[in-house]
Amino acid sequence: MNVADSEALTKVLESAGYQAADNEKQADILLVNTCVVRQNAEDKAAWYITSAKGLKAEKPNLKIILCGCLAAEPGRDIKKQFPHVDAFIPPNQPERLVEFLRLQPSPPTPLPEGEGRKREASQQTENRGEGIGITKYITIMHGCDNFCSYCIVPYVRGREYSRPMDEVLSEIKTLVEQGITNITLLGQNVNSYKYGLANLLREIENLFPFSLARGQRERGLGGEGLISFLTSHPRDMSDEIIKAVAELPYVAKDFVMPLQSGDNEILKKMNRGYNLEHYLGRVKKIRSTIPQARISTDIIVGFPGETEEQFENTLRAIEKIKFNDVHMFAYSARPAVTAAKLPDPLPETVKQARLQKLIQVVRENLLCYNAG
Ligand code: SF4
Repeated sequence: MNVADSEALTKVLESAGYQAADNEKQADILLVNTCVVRQNAEDKAAWYITSAKGLKAEKPNLKIILCGCLAAEPGRDIKKQFPHVDAFIPPNQPERLVEFLRLQPSPPTPLPEGEGRKREASQQTENRGEGIGITKYITIMHGCDNFCSYCIVPYVRGREYSRPMDEVLSEIKTLVEQGITNITLLGQNVNSYKYGLANLLREIENLFPFSLARGQRERGLGGEGLISFLTSHPRDMSDEIIKAVAELPYVAKDFVMPLQSGDNEILKKMNRGYNLEHYLGRVKKIRSTIPQARISTDIIVGFPGETEEQFENTLRAIEKIKFNDVHMFAYSARPAVTAAKLPDPLPETVKQARLQKLIQVVRENLLCYNAG
């Protein structure tokens, strides 16, 4: 999501005549896109923005713009914390960047011919997945209405909003015309896309099968793998979506479906809206419908009050399900969220020990990833 947001901000800058500089010292504008989903990410962003004071001291005309979730974090006086920052742009509000650029007295300083493109070219290389082509991210919805008790996203990205399907299809059409055939549809919970994720996948398939197929053939791929989507909330993983993924040859058979905990009491405290039995049912449905499906997940250990037994339940779930990939985290307390007020926060040492144990169990139970 952050990559997609950065691309959208880049487009705004380019439309205003700016181009990517090779390094910070060369830049007229330093745009920092931030994430606050975990304390670690927030600390890194805050450290970088603070250290940028030195750059501004060397080049007083440098404009520093703080974008993303740090600019929207509730209860934080960021203007006071970062007085050297010239503008704060919360997520999904690129029009505020347009307005800021419009008010700049001096136009962008042109770089020597071709220099600004170097960084873009290297970014495109980074985005190549397994060498099979450039992946473009398309945000189909943003915000979230779920309010999982540990998550700050609804507070910083706001309530759920689905982009109209015509708008999404028109963006995809432009990309396909540019030869891009590897597309990832993004949202905090794509399964609750207002106009139907299954409908959208079928529309994409109906509208662009030939260009997608051509790109796929050129890269010598098999019968799938050009349209993918993430992230899926397990509660909203409908039979209809599973059926669409099964039937559409150019949709990757990948499901990114965060479990978060294998213990029902913890899931309830997390306000996830499903229990382990529901999750197992969805995994069974996916695997019986699409035998080659790849399922990845996220797990948080050390949630406030998590007992040893509850942690063990998560390990047992990992052993039972056998994921293709698992993203693992020690619980990171975020201000303003409900879980911040829960009793019995666990010591960092316990959280880290559980994380290490989880890593070991995941390693022993991971299915071999099949990128084909
Ligand atoms: S579904 Fe839960 S974890 Fe995911 S973004 Fe929404 S509130 Fe956060």
